[in-house]
Amino acid sequence: MNYLFDTQALTDYLQDHKIPAFRAKQIQQAIFKEGILDIDQITTLSKDLRDQLSQDFVINDFTLKEKVEWPETTKFLFELADGKIIETVLMYHRHVRPEYEDEIKQRKILRSWTNHDISPKTHKLNRITICISSQVWCAVGCIFCVTGKLGFKKNLPRQEILLQILYANNYIQGKFGKKEDGTWNRVRNVVFMGMGEPMLNYDEMVTSIEYMKDQRALWLSKRHITISTSGVADKIRQLIDDKVDVRLALSLHAPNQELRKELIPMIAKRRDIDELMETIDYYTSSTGNRLFYEYIMIRDKTDTVEIWHQLGKLLKHRNAHVNLIPYNENPAMPNLETSEYDQILKFKKTVESHGVTVTVRDTLGRDVQWACWQLGYEVIMKQRIEDMEAENEAVDSDK
Ligand code: SF4
Repeated sequence: MNYLFDTQALTDYLQDHKIPAFRAKQIQQAIFKEGILDIDQITTLSKDLRDQLSQDFVINDFTLKEKVEWPETTKFLFELADGKIIETVLMYHRHVRPEYEDEIKQRKILRSWTNHDISPKTHKLNRITICISSQVWCAVGCIFCVTGKLGFKKNLPRQEILLQILYANNYIQGKFGKKEDGTWNRVRNVVFMGMGEPMLNYDEMVTSIEYMKDQRALWLSKRHITISTSGVADKIRQLIDDKVDVRLALSLHAPNQELRKELIPMIAKRRDIDELMETIDYYTSSTGNRLFYEYIMIRDKTDTVEIWHQLGKLLKHRNAHVNLIPYNENPAMPNLETSEYDQILKFKKTVESHGVTVTVRDTLGRDVQWACWQLGYEVIMKQRIEDMEAENEAVDSDK
């Protein structure tokens, strides 16, 4: 079954069936701009044409397995048509309403990494970011990531990458309705930071980005699309050659090769940190783009005094913006703990003293089990245990 929002498949179909080309525009308008996920709801098409298209196309073939809601986030667990599981997270960024500013300052509940006392009453929706998956699970195996523990299953085709955004836009319309200017609330920012290493699914990632930027499709600003990579150097070079003009974030997590090898073994073994930084310098000089560095804060591992200075020195002349991410503790990794908040602040100050911009990520969704795909991990492990038990029972009954 083809996806109706796949431009090439749709164009070929319309030509083959001698259907006027302007129908493609109506369909794209309905799916990308109006958030419609059901062919039968595209009422700009005749009933006959909708019935005909339904024979050969779908828009949405995801099954929602679980959804977790929090004032700042919604987390979806989708089952794909082939039964595999992925996760997608929506993050709602809000401004404090002026009438609550004083009260919030006083109560010290202005968004911080430890406090999520944020409600629609006190905060107005400003923008929505979606964190999308690019693969089913992941081969990279970062030691702090639950997805990495699951191993790799498959690359998502561009349609399944895009459908996460289309599904989200449809959901957002129902949840938030229209903005004050009469347009629909929808995803504004896309980050490839969900399950998987997007650079290891390069072609599908790049094609999906074309749809994101296309005026006839999602029409997102290039500044609002971010690829987050654990450091696949040859693909970073390919981005430059292919002129893929979006933002890039590097999950550095360690300022030296030894620690990178411990945290991100697969990628660090391929290229050492010096080669990686050479590639990064080539990227920034070729594109003029500033790079964002993700840095995970794990107690006594990535947050020691020695490391503060190493990171500062490494990034000092690199026009870097470092985002410190407090590690989300997870029972699947009992040996890892998050850094103390005081330690994070000291870390921030020291790295800043080297002339580097540093922010601390507000961990939206901490309370909805967003511990690096913990929800998905739990469901998948449950499934695995059930499968194993069923298999054991089958073996027992054969005896
Ligand atoms: S952090 Fe990202 S790259 Fe590393 S294992 Fe998890 S999903 Fe893969």
